[in-house]
Amino acid sequence: MEHQTSIPNPLCEVGRTHPRDKHRMKPVEGYTGVWECTKHGIYATVLPEEVADSIERGSAYTMHNGAQGVAGRTGDDRPGGIVFYYRPERG
Ligand SMILES: [Zn+2]
Repeated sequence: MEHQTSIPNPLCEVGRTHPRDKHRMKPVEGYTGVWECTKHGIYATVLPEEVADSIERGSAYTMHNGAQGVAGRTGDDRPGGIVFYYRPERG
């Protein structure tokens, strides 16, 4: 986790379910291991699989910046866990 390896950025959650709109997320500046899709307003991080599995989709999730977010799906396996998607809560 100390430095970025050759592991590609995760696919956007939207791109996973819409093959014609596959695109990768970009690292969030200032937060190691957090990615963002600015187009869709979705974030991703890597969680241990048992942690990610215990978070119900659509439930509250505290984001990397401490803001209230909403849990999304899980994605690809990664070293140390699995990609976990979330997005900011919208009013
Ligand atoms: Zn996207």
